Amino acid sequence: MSGPVSASDLPATSERSTPDPGTVEVTAARDTVVGTLPVRRALPRRERRMVGAWCFLDHMGPVTVTVEQGMDIAPHPHIGLQTLTWLLSGEAVHRDSLGSEQLIRPGEVNLMTAGNGVSHSEERPERAGGVLHGVQLWIAQPEETRHGPAAFEHRADLPAAEIGSAEVTVLVGDLDGLVSPARRDTDHLGADVGVRRGRATLPLREGREHAIAVLEGSVTVDDRFVATGELAYLGPGRDEVDLSAREQSRCLLIGGTPFPEPVLMWWNFVARDRDEIGAAYRDWSSATERYGRVNSRLPRIEVTAPAWLSAAGRASGQTDRPS
Ligand code: MN
Repeated sequence: MSGPVSASDLPATSERSTPDPGTVEVTAARDTVVGTLPVRRALPRRERRMVGAWCFLDHMGPVTVTVEQGMDIAPHPHIGLQTLTWLLSGEAVHRDSLGSEQLIRPGEVNLMTAGNGVSHSEERPERAGGVLHGVQLWIAQPEETRHGPAAFEHRADLPAAEIGSAEVTVLVGDLDGLVSPARRDTDHLGADVGVRRGRATLPLREGREHAIAVLEGSVTVDDRFVATGELAYLGPGRDEVDLSAREQSRCLLIGGTPFPEPVLMWWNFVARDRDEIGAAYRDWSSATERYGRVNSRLPRIEVTAPAWLSAAGRASGQTDRPS
């Protein structure tokens, strides 16, 4: 998914609230469309921009794949982030400017590191059909790696275990002694949690903030009911969370140390200031070597300039300030 970020995802203010450790803060995702694919965008939201280094969460589908509707995201660029794709059902083909071509299937992590620049497409397989259901997340890269080279990895060897009535698979980072082999540039965690009827207590790290996105069914987080399409945020200072379900449910647990610096997100770019975004935009528009080339049947996605670079944007006073 290209998952471009728009003004409706991001506020012009820099307020960031931190609830006390006992609070479960529930926010609704925003319904939008990426290409032809209906998605629920849980991050960024006006109420909650980031969870640790996690700065973007699109829940796509479930949708029956047809000629008119499915994952066909044409080549587009990224900087300063990792994309992590995780499917619950269906398949997609990842192609990138490093020459990677990888079929993405349920139970496997697809992780692309953009660094200073990469481009990719996400396309329906030739034998398209069935139901597509999954998530794509972005992880902001820290200063140490965000100017570095792009990279790609695919992981099918993920650790999983039963914790209470939950089946936990660790996608990145570690939880309860389970350690994912996936690359990690900051102290973040991502886990798929299937919850059967019953209760599970998951261990958390007090220094991290966490969030639970419900992908199927509904889950009670401590004593708050959280439905599909909602995100439950848990501030730092907790060492565990209780999950219970009355039906077979599925959610995603993400967490990490609060990101140490404000980030500026525009379109498919994660940076720190407008000059970096402006340069990234110009390099894509003029097709410099920065983002390489993707071997795709689809034409590359073009974008109009950031508002602050255009006379119209300046005249109307549009802003897109960093967090
Ligand atoms: Mn993308």
